[in-house]
Amino acid sequence: MSSRDPILIMGGGLGGLTTALALAQRGLPSRVLEGAPEFGAIGYGIQFGPNVFHVLDRIGLTGAVMDKADCPPAVLMRDALTGNELARIPTGASFRARFKHPYIIIHRIDLHNALLDACKYRQEIELVPEAMVTSFEERNGGVALSAADGRTFTGPALVGADGFRSLVRAKLVADGEPRPIGYVAHRTIVPISQLKADVHRQEVVLWGGPGFHIVHYPLRHGTLFNVVAVFRTSTHGERGDVESYRAELQHTYRDAHPAMRDLLAMMDLGRRWQVGDRDPIRHWSKGRVVLLGDAAHPPLQSFAQGACMAIEDGLCLAELIHAAGGDFAGAFRRFEAARILRTARLQLESRALWEFYHAEGIARDVRNETVADWDEAHMYRCLAWLYDGFQTSLEPSTQAQRRA
Ligand SMILES: Cc1cc2nc3c(=O)[nH]c(=O)nc-3n(C[C@H](O)[C@H](O)[C@H](O)COP(=O)(O)OP(=O)(O)OC[C@H]3O[C@@H](n4cnc5c(N)ncnc54)[C@H](O)[C@@H]3O)c2cc1C
Repeated sequence: MSSRDPILIMGGGLGGLTTALALAQRGLPSRVLEGAPEFGAIGYGIQFGPNVFHVLDRIGLTGAVMDKADCPPAVLMRDALTGNELARIPTGASFRARFKHPYIIIHRIDLHNALLDACKYRQEIELVPEAMVTSFEERNGGVALSAADGRTFTGPALVGADGFRSLVRAKLVADGEPRPIGYVAHRTIVPISQLKADVHRQEVVLWGGPGFHIVHYPLRHGTLFNVVAVFRTSTHGERGDVESYRAELQHTYRDAHPAMRDLLAMMDLGRRWQVGDRDPIRHWSKGRVVLLGDAAHPPLQSFAQGACMAIEDGLCLAELIHAAGGDFAGAFRRFEAARILRTARLQLESRALWEFYHAEGIARDVRNETVADWDEAHMYRCLAWLYDGFQTSLEPSTQAQRRA
């Protein structure tokens, strides 16, 4: 097995495709194995902070992404009971001046297609759909994989970019399934012409309530409207039908602001996602196998940054593989050291923000009082660690090395 043979990437999500592209830019071949019949994304919206543009610029995707994206004028938080605006992060000119890049909202399919088209154009990348990997092992100076249909693949190293319920993590870390936190999510997209609720139509808005929240924003240049409803329920582990979900939503959101209830009335309740969490872990590689993105460090979606982290990971990992000249195990250890603090901080702060969104009783009063004097400068300062981006340094910080 030569270190110039294609690196195996398991999972053709945002993290896996970014890794393939970033490797290709360094002349390194890869083979991306995707379990689904086609490479693609679920059809909902996604938000990107300015930090992701450090990567998109480097892999030449900023133009293609910006063609399809929208830049909201602000990100707002509203109290779900009163409708009062609690916090406002302006994301217009002052945001761009501060963070050098925009805040965007984009349809996941458009984003995925931009990445996929760029991958198809590179001869270093082989895309293999319908390759559901069922097992892998290190052998003969490389890694061998088996797929559900009996095919086998070998390569000098394996990148496990296989998401939240990662098979690679199950074998490498063996820390079980993600822990359910008692919340579920429903997602909907409708033509904006069908939107009846009296809500902001350009901004990203989060309505925070006791044990529930809703996020909404426009997509595709104001033609579509994306809504995500998240709430705590004792039935989070059960599968119901549309009627039972509808009854549950009506009960949960009974005290919510009327505009929120109008939004809920148009929710498509055909599919429910259970929200799960994982603790940060210090090591996510072993020998020639490494995890990346949600497989390594999935955050709750409070900051809307999980995909941004997977994309940052992809560039960082590719750069370190390139610099290591065939020493995959060394590159993977340096990758962990470089990324652990940033990604663990996101996981931990996401939990805190989750509580903040869902505060009830006196905690809600304290929250609302606390945010009352948060101005633009304060907001930008709080978000700087995240939005200023990640320097893809070839040397991990000495601080991270010391803690490893
Ligand atoms: C409701 C919600 C809203 C969110 N909003 C945002 C947001 O606004 N901004 C943001 O940055 N993040 C957001 N996220 C998080 C984001 O979706 C994830 O963090 C991101 O998709 C992780 O990317 P990934 O490449 O690591 O994994 P994934 O996107 O999950 O990709 C994994 C891929 O691996 C494939 N796969 C799995 N197992 C196998 C196997 N055995 N063999 C082969 N292939 C396999 C899967 O089919 C999939 O294509 C949100 C998440 C949720 C749940």
